Amino acid sequence: MVHSLDAIVKNGLCIGCGLCASLAGHDRVEMRWTPEGRLRPITKTPPDRATLKLINRVCPGLHTEGMDRATAGEGATLDTAFGYAQGHWRGWAADPEVRFRAATGGVLTALAIYLLESKEVDFIAHVRSPDDAPLRNVPHVSVDRAGVLDGMGSRYGPVAPLLHLDAHLAKGRPFALVAKPCDVAAVRNLAKHDPRVGKHLKYLLSISCGGESELELTWRQMRRFPIEESELKLMRYRGHGCPGPTRFETKDGRELNANYNDMWADKRFWFLQFRCKVCVDPVGEQADVIAYDIWPGGSPTCRWSSTARSRAPRAARRWSRRPRAQAP
Ligand SMILES: Cc1cc2nc3c(=O)[nH]c(=O)nc-3n(C[C@H](O)[C@H](O)[C@H](O)COP(=O)(O)OP(=O)(O)OC[C@H]3O[C@@H](n4cnc5c(N)ncnc54)[C@H](O)[C@@H]3O)c2cc1C
Ligand code: SF4
Ligand code: SF4
Repeated sequence: MVHSLDAIVKNGLCIGCGLCASLAGHDRVEMRWTPEGRLRPITKTPPDRATLKLINRVCPGLHTEGMDRATAGEGATLDTAFGYAQGHWRGWAADPEVRFRAATGGVLTALAIYLLESKEVDFIAHVRSPDDAPLRNVPHVSVDRAGVLDGMGSRYGPVAPLLHLDAHLAKGRPFALVAKPCDVAAVRNLAKHDPRVGKHLKYLLSISCGGESELELTWRQMRRFPIEESELKLMRYRGHGCPGPTRFETKDGRELNANYNDMWADKRFWFLQFRCKVCVDPVGEQADVIAYDIWPGGSPTCRWSSTARSRAPRAARRWSRRPRAQAP
């Protein structure tokens, strides 16, 4: 059975990666923002049957698998939580600027810069927050250190990192992708049908992922100040220290910082997309390198919001026993 894009979306399986739009063509399928602040494909002209079949095979809402032994390579061992892996290391960027400004020590940024400067790849496909609309994350291509630094940091709101994947593959040049585990799963799916992926996409870098929230998560924080989205000139979820503050800068010069944990203290307000609630691979088993958050003692010290305070200790204990133990 071949599912339409509308059916995938209506059943809550779409995470908004953008791959369907890339494969169908942007004139046929467009990624649009919904009123809740999700990114979803809108079919303008239905893709032909062959393309829709391919989308059904590669969409990460429909298929996500673990890394197979052959891809993991010799020496990989199987861990029940992490799948096949060559090893686990604790590390951070040696460059103090990258280490400070990045999300969690700058491992991904440092690796991306290394891949470019050592000429392993010609470009890095990742994401960034645009200057004119800081919440509306967009795909980003970097060819040098400055470009990579522009994309550094965690964006906890929606983004479609695979929106231009087909165009990247068509360039026929070596590149690396930095994206979430579901995006990586989509790319691994596509590799089974499109030989250009194995040929040109040399490195898949990913993050451990507790979920991608609707923009409502961020709007809720902004209402506390209050600030309107149209007033923003910069929005950073974390970084500039670890985890660093959640920071809003307005066009009229106001600088507002929130405690990182204010966003995550009460799980009722995470506004996670449904696909994240049924995610089978939040650790990025299929990536070449995955960077996790690292917290002294295993989780952040929460400054609980007043609404969450009464339930906080029990909720925190319950959460810390779960395998996905951290706030995203
Ligand atoms: C939505 C989300 C949820 C997360 N949840 C957890 C969690 O529960 N537990 C945990 O251990 N870690 C989580 N992380 C990972 C953590 O926040 C850091 O991203 C990770 O440790 C890498 O840190 P870094 O300093 O190496 O990254 P950096 O050097 O800052 O580089 C980050 C790279 O990721 C890219 N990127 C940022 N946001 C996105 C996005 N939404 N989609 C695709 N690419 C993106 C950037 O473009 C950049 O290239 C999450 C990250 C995100 C984006
Ligand atoms: S998850 Fe990605 S490929 Fe699947 S429908 Fe959503 S945007 Fe398209
Ligand atoms: S929790 Fe899973 S489905 Fe949701 S964004 Fe993260 S990797 Fe994708």
